[in-house]
Formats: sequence, C-alpha cells, structure tokens
Amino acid sequence: MKPLVAIVGRPNVGKSTFFNRMIGERLAIVEDMPGTTRDRLYGDTDWNGREFTLIDTGGLELGTGVPVGQVGLHGQSGDLMDHVMAQAQLAIEEADVIVFMVDARSGITSADEDVAHQLRQTRKPVIVAANKADNKDRRMDAVEFYTLGLGEPIVISSIQGIGTGDLLDRIVEEL
Ligand code: GDP
Ligand code: MG
Repeated sequence: MKPLVAIVGRPNVGKSTFFNRMIGERLAIVEDMPGTTRDRLYGDTDWNGREFTLIDTGGLELGTGVPVGQVGLHGQSGDLMDHVMAQAQLAIEEADVIVFMVDARSGITSADEDVAHQLRQTRKPVIVAANKADNKDRRMDAVEFYTLGLGEPIVISSIQGIGTGDLLDRIVEEL
C-alpha cells in the first residue's frame, strides 16, 4: 500500500482544486464512509518518483448530496464543522502526512483555529498550505498562518500552479 496523504480544511479553501490538479483523470476510488455520502476521494499520484495516495476530504455535505463548497464561506453550520473535524480526525488516524489547507484571501477564521487545535494534538507531520495566494500581496499576507502553531505555511495558488511544487517537495520529504 502506498503512503496516504490527506488534505483537510474547511470548505471552499481549494482542497479539491489541488486534488484534481494532481489526480486529474486518474481518479480511482470513492469511499463511502458510514454516515457520510461519498465524502472521501482517493487517487494515486507521484512526485519526483515517489508514489503516494492523495485523499480529498469533504466532497459532499453529510446526507444531502450538496457539494460542501456551495454552502459558502460564512454560512458554515455546526453540522458542517463537525464534519470537517471528523474528517481531520480520520486523517490523524489513517494518513501518513496531513496537508491542512487554508485560504490566504480570507485569512485565519475561527473554523481554521478549531481544526488547527485538533491537528496540534497529533505527532504526525502536518503541512499548512496557504492557498489562493495568487499574487504578491496575498503571498505576503499568508505568513499570518504561522500563528496557527503548525510550522511555516507553504504559500500556494492551486489555480495558477504557484508554489504547488514546493508543497509536493514538502509532502514527499515527510513520506
Ligand atoms: P474545497 O471546498 O476546499 O474543496 O474547495 P474547492 O477546490 O472546491 O475550491 C473552492 C473555490 O475556490 C472554487 O471556486 C475554486 O475555483 C477556488 N480556488 C481554488 N484554488 C484557488 C486559487 O489558488 N486561487 C483562487 N483565486 N481561487 C481558488
Ligand atoms: Mg472539495
């Protein structure tokens, strides 16, 4: 079995965009978790000759079949956050490396702080990826994520492909 790398974080930060960029058409398995609706996507990929399985979490909202991303940044229900936290807990249990994705455009939210608190409890490697840093100002702002207490953030733009190579370098270092 290949090492598992889970991408966690609140809805809308760009987890699936990064996942799709890496996996593209190669998407292999959709896992049905008890009590969730196809919430985890698994896909095999590689970087610098190192193979691993990437997990995208939080694809569909619990029960409803509504994509989580459509709930909106500030409309996150308690249920939804429970769901994000449950996915982070699963990542802590099964992943070899956890990528905690945050949004450099919105800055740190209380939901980010909750997930960060949870991730600080594990000894597994956690890499903070500050996504949507599409320009220089956003890249400068992204240093604030250092205060989450999970190390230096890797600043990326999944859409533009900026910094994603650095993130992948960091991931394979931890495998
Ligand atoms: P998820 O809910 O965490 O899986 O987030 P998605 O991947 O569905 O992305 C949510 C929204 O953010 C979509 O509209 C994406 O196009 C957008 N997005 C993702 N990555 C970036 C990025 O690097 N820059 C910008 N500006 N938008 C992004
Ligand atoms: Mg998603």
